Amino acid sequence: TTALQDKVALVTGGSRGIGAAIAVRLAADGADVAFTYRGSHDRASDVVERIKATGRRAVALAADSADPVAVRDAVERAAGDLGRLDVLVNNAAVFAVKPLEETGVDEFEEAMAVNVRAVFVATQAAVPHMAAGGRIISIGSNVADRAVFPGLTMYATSKAALVGLTKALGRELGPRAITVNLVVPGPTDTDTNPADGPAAATINGFTALGRFAAPAEVAGVVAYLARPEAAYITGATVPVDGGFTI
Ligand code: NDP
Repeated sequence: TTALQDKVALVTGGSRGIGAAIAVRLAADGADVAFTYRGSHDRASDVVERIKATGRRAVALAADSADPVAVRDAVERAAGDLGRLDVLVNNAAVFAVKPLEETGVDEFEEAMAVNVRAVFVATQAAVPHMAAGGRIISIGSNVADRAVFPGLTMYATSKAALVGLTKALGRELGPRAITVNLVVPGPTDTDTNPADGPAAATINGFTALGRFAAPAEVAGVVAYLARPEAAYITGATVPVDGGFTI
């Protein structure tokens, strides 16, 4: 048997980047995996094929995290199609970066809707489907701890909110043996933050290791937290940031 044999996982934002790596890793560890995405149908199909190649079941759901009804429906679809839920990974986010003076209230609200409200809604919808041993794992950001560039107000605010959500829910769900944790990546090589992008050399200099993470390096920590052996870790923020915040 494998570490996540016959578990059921839902990953938000699983068509690309870190979310895709998490979806495929959880499947490789033995879980059936549903994932949401917003618009990248072809990329979502690729991830479905990669999950199926592990021998596990895959469900791709187009659902905009900005829409709370769509988020709730996606959780219900995933739990319905795959029978239950053991692991929820809240990964989808918008990297909303703008100077304060240029940021509209509508943009602020969209960042909060995708990065915070959707996490609340998905978790609220998922928990009734979870038994003891359930796992809520959200993805934070290193720049909520160390805001190295200007323009990060919206994004860092939204990601900092997940620290409080994780601790409060960890307390609330502890009696049900459901753990709640926040994995906090550093610079990770994705479409949003490519390791060969214009700011990469500067960003490398903020880390101790002098490089970006591969998405699989973040996915491995998420997969560990999902395992039965991680049952005593809850309310924690777990950096996977190459020393960005030390
Ligand atoms: P990417 O931009 O590479 O991928 C984002 C994924 O989320 C895609 O699957 C995308 O779907 C989906 N998504 C985006 N917006 C929505 C939405 N409104 N509704 C549904 N799905 C959506 O992101 P990363 O892999 O770089 O980031 C993943 C997580 O890691 C995020 O929470 C991010 O904040 C965090 N993070 C990333 C860092 C980095 O350096 N990359 C550093 C620190 C934290 P689609 O393909 O359809 O657009």
